[in-house]
Amino acid sequence: MNENQIKKRILVTGGAGFLGSHLCEELLRQGHEVICLDNYFTGDKANVEHLMDNHYFELVRHDVIVPYFIEVDEIYNLACPASPVHYQYNPIKTTKTSVMGAINMLGLAKRIKAKILQASTSEVYGDPAIHPQPESYWGNVNPTGIRSCYDEGKRCAETLFFDYHRQNNVHIKVVRIFNTYGPRMHPNDGRVVSNFIMQALKGQDITIYGDGSQTRSFCYCDDMIRGLIAMMNTDNSVIGPVNIGNPTEFTIRQLAEMVIDLVGSKSKICYLPLPSDDPMQRQPVITQARELLGWQPTVALREGLAKTIDYFERFR
Ligand code: NAD
Ligand code: UDP
Repeated sequence: MNENQIKKRILVTGGAGFLGSHLCEELLRQGHEVICLDNYFTGDKANVEHLMDNHYFELVRHDVIVPYFIEVDEIYNLACPASPVHYQYNPIKTTKTSVMGAINMLGLAKRIKAKILQASTSEVYGDPAIHPQPESYWGNVNPTGIRSCYDEGKRCAETLFFDYHRQNNVHIKVVRIFNTYGPRMHPNDGRVVSNFIMQALKGQDITIYGDGSQTRSFCYCDDMIRGLIAMMNTDNSVIGPVNIGNPTEFTIRQLAEMVIDLVGSKSKICYLPLPSDDPMQRQPVITQARELLGWQPTVALREGLAKTIDYFERFR
């Protein structure tokens, strides 16, 4: 920590998950004290095992749908399953996690006057009718479909953040995260990058849902963590929502071919039905992130995939 920086106490909900664990690690590296709160639904203690020896790291088993009391300077609210397979497993719980979790963390932030960042999502844009997606776009979301528990839960959480800000002057920061991948994704997570890498490593068929022409824009986790921290460190006038993601767009078929090539796999591609409400295209406009945060992604998909494949080798 350089002498101009202040050591902060920081709560990270969902801290034992994929992104949360990288965030805890980076905040500790910057010299802060970190309290990691998780119910281990999709997270794992193994993701933060290497941080346990650090005296400034605390791990707490807790569910964000239950109020939690602590004194901290900042809260990063990441608790919520992110993979469609997992958030659809218990959809009512997913909505509770997003909405009651937001209420509990915002209530805490209000009482202790902490800054609070919400990990929102590109899913608030639904199956977007505007391409690429700027923050000003209100989205095209099915309120009653199988993805709604996540999409509408996250939309309601954004509403709560802005109402706590307007009504109670809570210092909020809302970021909309676009598809992010990297080491520590769960091998059975069900998201496309982990599925394709595990299938390629095991020589199994690569399961493309639909015809593979749908697009996503993939951001490497290290870039994302830099973006989240940059957003938290902006002055109080910046509240968001701000898109954070890599604007380079790929079809799912291109992703499959790149993974097969990088792994050197003999896997064949097979085509399965497209799940309902699966968005056809997604690409962030990141002008705000560039201008307000001085942020832009630096890791190209090929480079990030190679690092992720290295990590997944242990599960082969
Ligand atoms: P993840 O599933 O690995 O992490 C989520 C973490 O939250 C897990 O550790 C899980 O155990 C924990 N959790 C879930 N419900 C909880 C509850 N009720 N109480 C306490 N902890 C709970 O997913 P991730 O990719 O690391 O996502 C982190 C956050 O970022 C999520 O809020 C997600 O919606 C958001 N996000 C991620 C992406 C992405 O592509 N990775 C994209 C958009 C938004
Ligand atoms: N997908 C796929 N095969 C898989 C997993 C996902 O073709 O084994 C597709 C999925 O239908 C979607 C895209 O990949 O079009 C991204 O899916 P993911 O679950 O990673 O994230 P999200 O749909 O939430 O962006």
